[in-house]
Order: sequence, then C-alpha cells, then structure tokens
Amino acid sequence: MDFRFDEDEESYRQELRRFATKVLAPRYQSDDRAGEFRRELALDMAKMGLTGLRIPEEYGGQEASAVIAGLAAEEVGRADFNASYLIINTALISDIIVRNATEEQRRAWLPGIAAGTTVPCICITEPAHGTDAASLELKAVPDPSTGSGQPERWTLHGEKTSITLGMTSDFGVVLARTGGPGARGVSAFWVDLGTDHVTRSGFDDLGGRSIGRASLHFDGAPVTRADLIGNEGDGFVSVMQGFDYSRAIIGLACLGAAQVSLEEAIQWSRDRQAFGQPIGTFQGVSFPLAEYATYVRGARHVCYEALWKKDNDLEHGAEAAMAKFWAPKLSTEVIHQCLLTFGHMGYSTESALGQRLRDVIGLEIGDGTAQVSKLVIARNLLGRAYAP
Ligand SMILES: Cc1cc2nc3c(=O)[nH]c(=O)nc-3n(C[C@H](O)[C@H](O)[C@H](O)COP(=O)(O)OP(=O)(O)OC[C@H]3O[C@@H](n4cnc5c(N)ncnc54)[C@H](O)[C@@H]3O)c2cc1C
Repeated sequence: MDFRFDEDEESYRQELRRFATKVLAPRYQSDDRAGEFRRELALDMAKMGLTGLRIPEEYGGQEASAVIAGLAAEEVGRADFNASYLIINTALISDIIVRNATEEQRRAWLPGIAAGTTVPCICITEPAHGTDAASLELKAVPDPSTGSGQPERWTLHGEKTSITLGMTSDFGVVLARTGGPGARGVSAFWVDLGTDHVTRSGFDDLGGRSIGRASLHFDGAPVTRADLIGNEGDGFVSVMQGFDYSRAIIGLACLGAAQVSLEEAIQWSRDRQAFGQPIGTFQGVSFPLAEYATYVRGARHVCYEALWKKDNDLEHGAEAAMAKFWAPKLSTEVIHQCLLTFGHMGYSTESALGQRLRDVIGLEIGDGTAQVSKLVIARNLLGRAYAP
C-alpha cells in the first residue's frame, strides 16, 4: 500500500496549483459578482488540458486517469470552485462519448471539447422529473416520412431544467424519449443548442452564479441518426454509467474548497489574538478544526479510492456514492465552521468563505442528492432485497 502520489502526479499537482493560484483564484469572486460565464475561462482551462482530461490523445485530450481528473478537480476547487464544473462536465460527457459514440462522432465532437471551444452540458433533469430521471418526458418525435422503418430524423419537444452551464453551452447530451416508458425508452443525442428551436432561461441561484444554471426549452430542435449516441433505447444506461465515478470527482472539488478554507482558518487561529493569546490556544477554536481536518482526510481517501478502483477496473459504485453523499455535505459544514472562526471578518464578502459556502451547497443537490447516494450504498451493503 502506498498513500503517496507518484512523482508525475505530484509535479502535475504543483503545476496546477501555480496555474489555479495565478489564473483562477483572482477571478473567483469577481466572476460571481458578474453572474455570468466567461468564455475565456474555458479557453484558459483548455490550455492546461483541463477540459480534455478524459479524452484520448488522438482527439486532442490528455487521456488522464480518473485519479488525475480528481486531483485536477481538487486543485481547481481550492482556487475557483465554480471552474471545477468545467472539469466535472467535460470529464463526464467525454467519457460518455468515448464509451458509446462511433469513431466518426468522436472525431467530430471531442477535439472541440478538449480545445475549450465547445462548452458542453448534460441535459437529464426536467421540471417534473429529477431524482426519478427514468420517467423523463422530453419527446423525440420521428420524422413523419419515417413510416414503419427506423427513423433517421427526429425533432425534440419538451423542457430540460437545472442544467449546469445551460446559459452558455454550445452542445448538450440530451436524454429524450424515443420509445415506451421507463429507462429503456430513452435515447441520448448530441444536440446543437445554438438553433432557434432552443430557448434558455437562467436561474437566479444562491451559488454557482458564474456558471449559469438554466432551463432549456426544445421546440422542434432537429436531430438525426448521426447525432444519436449509442443505440436507440440505450441512452439512459450509458449516461448513468458515467456518473459512477464523476461523483468522486465532485467530492474532490468540494473538498478542495473545504481544505483551503481550513488552511485559512488555521492561519487565522495563529494570527488572531483574544484575551492576550492566539485564538488557536482555545480548545473551542482548535478542536473543531482538528475534527474537520480528520473528516476531510477521511472523505478524501474515499474519493481517491473510488477513482483508483475505476482506473483499475474494480467495482466502485458504492465508494463513489459514499464520496457524493459525504464530501459535499462535509465541505459545507467545514466551510461554515471556518467562516465562524474568522468572526465578523468571515461574514464580509471581502472573504471568499461565504461564497464558497453558497457554491458548495449546490453540489449537495446537483448530480443526485445524498438520499440517492445512500440508496446505492444501502443496496450495496444489504443487498437489493433488503434495502429501500
Ligand atoms: C447546482 C446544480 C447543478 C445541476 N446540474 C445539472 C445538470 O447539469 N444536468 C441535469 O440534468 N441536472 C442537473 N441538476 C439537477 C439535479 O440533478 C437534480 O436537482 C437532482 O437530481 C434532484 O432532483 P430534483 O431537484 O428534481 O429533486 P426531487 O427529485 O424532486 O427530490 C426532492 C427531494 O426528495 C428526495 N427524494 C426523491 N426521491 C427520493 C427517494 N426515492 N428516496 C429518498 N429521497 C428521495 C430528494 O433527495 C430531495 O431531497 C443540477 C442541480 C443543481 C442544484
């Protein structure tokens, strides 16, 4: 057993730390205030290979391991938590494409994602179906000329909601109903969102304000068989398989924000004096930090274990669910505690702590709530017949 990253991984971490400190961190709060996505962010991250982490080299990507993708999310999460959405989205979407798309489709779609010129999104959630995503209703209507044969063209009708980067994305992996009820009636399409058939409306969110979560309305958006990812009816399963490990990447992005908050609070506990001594000398100040540092370390191990298992083709669904349930919730608690450690200074928007808190809460919900993760964990522990 070896708990260290190898030399290459460690030097990659240091390189990312320098980039994130210099390029990402200075814009974290100003981007939040501007409240809209900055396209240069995708280009800057692409130059560092961060939008092509899971894309094979032949399509312009880094072909990085899942562990490296997690490490990147952790480093970016420290500097600009919202920028980590670009890693989460591109890793998840490129994995879906690599595993399910044809060679022609990969060649057409992946290089733009790696270059940061195509910002993609993933469109599953609908106004009436979130957790129960398999009941989704957005309809792919076959071209009327299809007759009884296999359709070559469809038009999309319906609404997707709560879509990360929805206000900006150029293309989306859109889950649509091509067949009967349930997961087996769902197909995945790569959809051009730049047409008149797609309109967008943004949310006024508590956090993640520089990302632009949005509802997308599809009013006859055209798609063809060349846009179909995998086979008709396989869309739900192929997209959901991608989530198995992206949940651990999300965990690490949250823990990155928690860890940097802890480091700031630790330094403050040395520097700030009360009653003639550093506040860290009061157990009421230092013990919560000690406890949270311990929990953060534990959660981080769970995340990396899930990613390491993914890289080694080992079953990792339960670990990824543990990461998703624990890390965002823990990070929210840690950042809250760190904010309190700063007293009134933490409550000011001069500090990034309040924004981190708002931002991290979003991923307690996004990509599935804690309850859903616990379902996965419970079924894994007890067996399907004995769990909810
Ligand atoms: C920041 C953010 C980013 C997001 N990004 C995307 C995106 O890019 N693409 C996308 O498609 N969606 C996205 N979402 C949507 C997200 O995936 C859904 O919000 C999530 O799956 C929950 O669905 P819901 O909000 O409709 O809640 P509901 O499904 O209505 O659930 C409401 C509550 O009931 C609980 N609940 C539901 N069913 C059960 C059950 N069986 N057992 C126990 N508890 C249950 C839930 O845990 C939750 O607490 C994002 C959401 C957020 C907040």
